[in-house]
Amino acid sequence: MSKVKYYYDPDTLSYRKIEPKKSRRFRNIALFFLGSFLFGFLGLILLLNTNLVNTPRELSLAREVKNYELQFELLGKKMEQIENVLANIEDRDNNIYRLYFEANPIPEEQRRAGFGGVNRYKSLEGFNNSEMIIATTKRLDIIQKQMVIQSKSLDEITKLAEEKEKLLAAIPAIQPIKNEDLTRMASGYGWRSDPFTKARKMHWGMDFTSPKGTPVYASGDGTVTRADNNASGYGKHIRIDHGYGYMSLYGHLSQYNVKARQKVKRGDLIGFVGNTGRSEAPHLHYEVWKDDERINPINFYYGSLTAEEFENMLKYANQENQSLD
Ligand SMILES: [Zn+2]
Repeated sequence: MSKVKYYYDPDTLSYRKIEPKKSRRFRNIALFFLGSFLFGFLGLILLLNTNLVNTPRELSLAREVKNYELQFELLGKKMEQIENVLANIEDRDNNIYRLYFEANPIPEEQRRAGFGGVNRYKSLEGFNNSEMIIATTKRLDIIQKQMVIQSKSLDEITKLAEEKEKLLAAIPAIQPIKNEDLTRMASGYGWRSDPFTKARKMHWGMDFTSPKGTPVYASGDGTVTRADNNASGYGKHIRIDHGYGYMSLYGHLSQYNVKARQKVKRGDLIGFVGNTGRSEAPHLHYEVWKDDERINPINFYYGSLTAEEFENMLKYANQENQSLD
């Protein structure tokens, strides 16, 4: 309430009320409203700066942060699943694949190594959620590294597998004469009595008794190095170089089906059984060489015989009978 003001009127000799002008009154009211508005506004600003009340925007941001935290937690669970699957693959890689191909297992520390040196996570520091974000980023970095190492390991295994496949195709692994063509297995590798001198003598190969003209097959992939009659005792004979230190020799043949320097595959027809050279009866004398030493060919027929046939052959080959040479 504004004060009521009076003035002395000499004409009427009385005090008269001063009536405020209409415009003045309006101005006062406007000033009052402006003042209260400014005061209220300042008060609001002060209040908002004290964290005592949250604005709707702040509330919505807080909700958003909560949601991010929840999503991070879910991502963490998914990462855990990935880590488990990866660990399983790594385990198989080390204990089956790498072992099978004779490659050294990759140590755990190497697979799970983080990144040393500069702090890669500096830019993530200094926020409310830094710890959670850095931990998650580190985990992802390690998973990524694990994947790279695993992928490289599989590349290596692929290469080794291809190499092994070539090796397996190369080494002498089948019987050089079909089982149904065999009259009988005459003599194995070991000490046997010489058919000519009857003296006990080392027999360096296996003798397969078959009629003259029976087909003889290459026991592994390779290159024919000799197909001639110029080695004493063997008669007409063939030698195949299989690589990896392996060589096979087929003696006492009646006929060749290949020439020197010819490439052959396992199972190719290379010649025919005969009785040439130092031989008592038609048979194939078969030798397997590894690194220039003759070894027992009996260990190399896994490619063509059943367990029973192999057993039978073992029985025959181990009898200390007379060889046909
Ligand atoms: Zn022999």
